Amino acid sequence: KVVSGDEIRQRFLRFYASRGHKIIPSSSLVPDDPTVLLTIAGMLQFKPVFLGKEPRPVPCATTAQRCIRTNDIENVGRTARHHTFFEMLGNFSFGDYFKKEAIVWAWELTTKEFGLPSERLWVSIFEDDDDAFNIWHTEVGVPKERIKRMGEDDNFWTSGVTGPCGPCSEIYYDFHPDRGYVDADFGDGSRFIELYNLVFMQYNKKDDGSLELLKQKNIDTGMGLERMAQVLQKVPNNYETDLIFPIIEKASNLAMISYANADDATKANFKIIGDHMRAVVYLISDGVVPSNVGRGYVVRRLIRRVVRTGKLLGIKGDVEGNIEGAFLPLLARTVIELCTNIDPDVKTRMPRILEELKREEIRFLQTLERGEKLLDQFLENALSSGGTNGDGPLLSGKDVFLLYDTYGFPVEITAEVAEERGVNIDLEGFELEMENQRRQSQAAHNVVKLTVANETELSESIPDTEFLGYSTLFASAVVKG
Ligand code: ATP
Ligand code: MG
Ligand code: MG
Ligand code: MG
Repeated sequence: KVVSGDEIRQRFLRFYASRGHKIIPSSSLVPDDPTVLLTIAGMLQFKPVFLGKEPRPVPCATTAQRCIRTNDIENVGRTARHHTFFEMLGNFSFGDYFKKEAIVWAWELTTKEFGLPSERLWVSIFEDDDDAFNIWHTEVGVPKERIKRMGEDDNFWTSGVTGPCGPCSEIYYDFHPDRGYVDADFGDGSRFIELYNLVFMQYNKKDDGSLELLKQKNIDTGMGLERMAQVLQKVPNNYETDLIFPIIEKASNLAMISYANADDATKANFKIIGDHMRAVVYLISDGVVPSNVGRGYVVRRLIRRVVRTGKLLGIKGDVEGNIEGAFLPLLARTVIELCTNIDPDVKTRMPRILEELKREEIRFLQTLERGEKLLDQFLENALSSGGTNGDGPLLSGKDVFLLYDTYGFPVEITAEVAEERGVNIDLEGFELEMENQRRQSQAAHNVVKLTVANETELSESIPDTEFLGYSTLFASAVVKG
């Protein structure tokens, strides 16, 4: 029998509860912390405790924390393991146990509780962390060949530019032990998946970048629930686990396309929908409203990407169901059906969530509609003046870009409509405009960068693509496919 995502979550929490940890509920996606825009990890709700600003609630705790990582948005559908919304299972020690217990328990959990074969597991440690090496090798018995020392970029974890941090050690699952030890690269997603990260949190990184020792040694860990589900359910990616696949099935029913028989590009589009729908439902449930700034902008960007991806797949809304052709509420219902063990409050907030999604989708559809009218005009012009150069009627790159940038009009759709009317589009010219745009918004970034001290917040609040367009001078592009 295949273990469900819900069961994995529960078994993780129980495992640590039976080792003295208190089970604490997930905190909101909107953190009580001005230095980060959204909750990116389980440790966030404990940050004041780690820093010694608040007394510890208990010596050690365990959580299943809902998280958002906008920095992974481009990875969605491209890698098998990244989401914008995911659950991080964690165990935390506030000056209680440290490295040895953390490592020994993580191993026991992974190999005994979840039954992963130990010869499939590799670990990474921070370059000079001999303590960690000795525990993994001598106490736990992991062969030297499968312990890799990694540098600061990979194995020194910080929650932001400043704040609690420390060297870390990760557990990887090997899909291809047959490939041997030579040149084994944890970054190779076709071979390895990072499952569990143990952070030995003993420093506070200060504004000037220096590290000060915290008063106590802490443990902060994170295991991706969807990743563990992928491995235990033996599916090719996180999206095909029981945690997300029902949303994809719903979308594929609405699109009348079989996911199983679809090509990779189509599958990627379904994955985007599966991922982003979870993100928007949980964000709205936690009180984030679509807008052009900060968190609201994140939701807007995700919603619009679902709408346009759905359109590409041919999803039509339910006109009879009193939702005026919107399809996001239909998908949201499936997300909400799956919420019971993630956050039951989502159910009680369902009416507001559906209403917000409907309103935002319709607003975007209207913008797209205005774009359609404009495209029609452009095509008329091309047809009446075109064909004179011998290559047939052509839509200029500038026009295609305007549709894309100001009206959120996917270039694939422009091309399709134009083709139906016998008009070619100047893709090269369009790419040129895009390049210009990128350069401009890059310049805009640099200007802002000089004035904003906290880079984490900056990169969160001013994402480098999409939809700044409607209201800012540096009109930016619609979400790329
Ligand atoms: P990766 O290297 O795969 O991007 P990470 O090192 O950025 O992961 P951590 O910050 O160490 O991830 O987070 C702890 C755990 O949370 C990871 O080991 C992984 O299991 C999970 N995780 C991290 N990012 C994501 C994501 N975008 N989607 C799903 N799970 C994630
Ligand atoms: Mg990452
Ligand atoms: Mg990593
Ligand atoms: Mg990691």
